[in-house]
Amino acid sequence: MSPFALSRDDRPDRPRPALSVIVPCYNEEEVIETTHARLSAVMAGAGVSHEIIYIDDGSKDATVEKLRAIASNCAHARVVRLSRNFGHQIAVTAGLEFADGDAVVLIDADLQDPPEVIPEMIAKWREGYEVVYGVRTTREGENAFKLWTARAFYRIINKLSEVPLPLDTGDFRLIDRKVVLALRRMHERYRLLRAMTSWVGFRQVALPYERHKRFAGESKYPLRKMLALALDGILSFSVVPLRIVTAVGLCMAFFAALGITYALIGRIFGDDWVRGWTLMFITVLFFGGIQFIFLGIIGEYVGRIYGEAKQRPLYLVSEVMGPPSFGAIETLAHERGGP
Ligand code: UDP
Ligand code: MG
Repeated sequence: MSPFALSRDDRPDRPRPALSVIVPCYNEEEVIETTHARLSAVMAGAGVSHEIIYIDDGSKDATVEKLRAIASNCAHARVVRLSRNFGHQIAVTAGLEFADGDAVVLIDADLQDPPEVIPEMIAKWREGYEVVYGVRTTREGENAFKLWTARAFYRIINKLSEVPLPLDTGDFRLIDRKVVLALRRMHERYRLLRAMTSWVGFRQVALPYERHKRFAGESKYPLRKMLALALDGILSFSVVPLRIVTAVGLCMAFFAALGITYALIGRIFGDDWVRGWTLMFITVLFFGGIQFIFLGIIGEYVGRIYGEAKQRPLYLVSEVMGPPSFGAIETLAHERGGP
């Protein structure tokens, strides 16, 4: 049955699973079956009722067909297919809206985050923690450049941003339903989920784990996308760049005042007042350059305001395979403008 036909009244009588595992997938045909096998094995041994939600983020390879087979063969698997590629963070966001579990685990499809850590996360959750975030102790198979940029990323964000972001965390984490409900209320378009789960508060604990190399396929985060993500992290959680603009602007104004005084004195009391042309030339170029940089920074914020102001849905779903969910019904009702 199409989930679009469901209303609140014919909500299926399906008990809420204890755990929902969210797996965003973009062109993961080489790994997805292995991932499902390993995840299923771990979850079967974890002793909790569960569902595994695969979000197909507009894959262009055979990922969808493989997911379709998984959904029809495994009672725990559900597949949400987005209408196109919306990006990793949005795919995970879609997963959060479809997840019914009392807790949710976010994990990548490429087995870089070992599913075997999930039972440890569940144990921490049972101790009462509401966010259990994975911290990478080692990252095998990633080149020095990726490691260095990743380190720089966390350090810069922490310097600039108002919410602390634990070092070397990714999105591999377990979050309680309370936090899921909080995240569902955060509708911003430029998202960095790891920073958003830090912002919400609640009881949080770190869980160290070893990050493995990609099982197969290649990273979908080229440098360009990493920079975009870093920029989202900084601009969505910080107005420090704007403050820097103001501070430098004030310094500039001070030097400008000195320059003006100097020019006036030279003009009034000097006889050869064309001197200082070099200084003037340099000043004009310098001010021009600085102004363009600042316009760019302000433009980044304005662009984001424009993006948010349009209030478009963050993603569109083209198909749902497997059992329907409470979350989906709420989402679709919300998309229709319902309560
Ligand atoms: N992913 C996605 N949409 C995208 C890019 C990536 O859903 O546009 C998924 C991808 O399938 C994987 C996860 O996000 O499960 C992390 O991506 P990747 O492994 O390429 O990133 P990296 O580990 O290299 O940072
Ligand atoms: Mg990866």
